[in-house]
Amino acid sequence: MKPVIGITSTLARLNANSEGVYVHQDYYRAVEAVGGLPIVLPLASIETVKQLIDLCDGLIFTGGEDIEPSAYGEEAIAELGQTLPLRDQIELEAIRYVIDADKPLLAICRGAQVLNVALGGTLYQDLPSQYEGALEHVQKGVPRSRDTHEVLLAANSRLAHIFGGAGVRVNSLHHQSLHLLGQGLQVTAISPDGVIEGVELRGSTFAIGVQWHPENMAAAGDRSMTKLFAAFLEESQTSVEQRKPSQASKG
Ligand code: MN
Repeated sequence: MKPVIGITSTLARLNANSEGVYVHQDYYRAVEAVGGLPIVLPLASIETVKQLIDLCDGLIFTGGEDIEPSAYGEEAIAELGQTLPLRDQIELEAIRYVIDADKPLLAICRGAQVLNVALGGTLYQDLPSQYEGALEHVQKGVPRSRDTHEVLLAANSRLAHIFGGAGVRVNSLHHQSLHLLGQGLQVTAISPDGVIEGVELRGSTFAIGVQWHPENMAAAGDRSMTKLFAAFLEESQTSVEQRKPSQASKG
């Protein structure tokens, strides 16, 4: 049986009468490409979202809006981008639920920020105005899938193991980043300007946050990022094996 991978979503307005679930297609295509069964999690009640998480073997927390700074005890600055408090509320609780269940977790861009804030960390609300010497982290005039800067990987980290080297080229589509680290997180990837680009949760089976968008790179055929999704799927497959006996005993 294929691992079921839950993918978080946001709300999008199609027209005056249509508003609902939105997720970039590259997330579910990247999961499909490595043999996973993607399902999109709606912004339903937290009780429903938790029950859907129970059905999943692995979870992807996706990119999107800025998080309301009140979630990490700060006032919003003028450069803060669009926020969606409903999504913050649901995802912060949902990601803690995933961590408690120790389900494989790949937290991407906003997802990595949700992971950090859920564990008590903080964010730079806007790198250009708050981080001196920051590189251009919002790439312009090139496709989302194009790599535009390097990240350095910590020795012996899971990311270094997956990519098989001391660094990897990534795309960059974020104006925020992790600042003070949440409890249990370890920085395992940084860009040359020192901005945190990857974190891993100590003691977890597989809980990785990355600030770049591996799904866009994988969908465009990038082999390194395909390896990241494959490693995540492999851990989720283990979760499938563990799920079988408990379902049998219930039946
Ligand atoms: Mn970047």
